[in-house]
Amino acid sequence: MTRFHVIAILAAFLGATAVVLGNLTAFALVVAAFLIIAGFGVALPQWRLFGPFICQGTASKRCVALTFDDGPDPRSTPALLDLLRAERVPATFFCIGRNVTAQPELTARFVREGHLLANHTYSHSNATNFFGVEKLVEEMTRTQSAIRDAAGVTPAFFRPPMGLSNPRVFKAATAVGLRVIGWTARGFDTQCSTPHRIVRRILRGVEPGAIILLHDGKIPADRLLATVKLLLAKLRERGYECVRLDTILT
Ligand SMILES: [Zn+2]
Repeated sequence: MTRFHVIAILAAFLGATAVVLGNLTAFALVVAAFLIIAGFGVALPQWRLFGPFICQGTASKRCVALTFDDGPDPRSTPALLDLLRAERVPATFFCIGRNVTAQPELTARFVREGHLLANHTYSHSNATNFFGVEKLVEEMTRTQSAIRDAAGVTPAFFRPPMGLSNPRVFKAATAVGLRVIGWTARGFDTQCSTPHRIVRRILRGVEPGAIILLHDGKIPADRLLATVKLLLAKLRERGYECVRLDTILT
């Protein structure tokens, strides 16, 4: 039973009680509260309302996991990979299947250089949160196949576009054999902002076991590189080591 089930049962009980007592104001308040909670649950992975959203790794070591969404992007990913290789930092890339199909060489490079590949749907549609289970399974399996064909590995992790979720996301992920991943800290790096501001926001949420959300797709390469360089320097200053998601979750 998920937290959503518990809240739905509680809301049904309170709503029914209000109806029995003839208190329509209380009934309306229960319905409104339920809808507000469900709405926040869709947008906030950390609430784990609809299923086991993983937003944090093991805190036993001073490690964090850098995760990059929306690539591979030929405009920014190659320069990021050069930087990560020079800094000897492994990362995790939540790839869009359509980009993988378009960039098989770049996808293979992730694995050659020690990074972990993960699934971020095939089309990254803004309507993903309205998809049925069947369509979600198709989005996930197409991406699994694209990654397997390009890089010879099968991802174990999935992150929904924009982190939006509902019960169907967890049903589909379970059917495909994927664990659903959120994040601990993010810097809103895709929105117009400076590297300093992005890194400051991220560092506010960093703690041992943190999963850090960044993007290597649809982002200017110079801002991405400046952000990652600054972030790596600040993390080192604080004694953090960067590891892959599969390492931080064990
Ligand atoms: Zn995305």
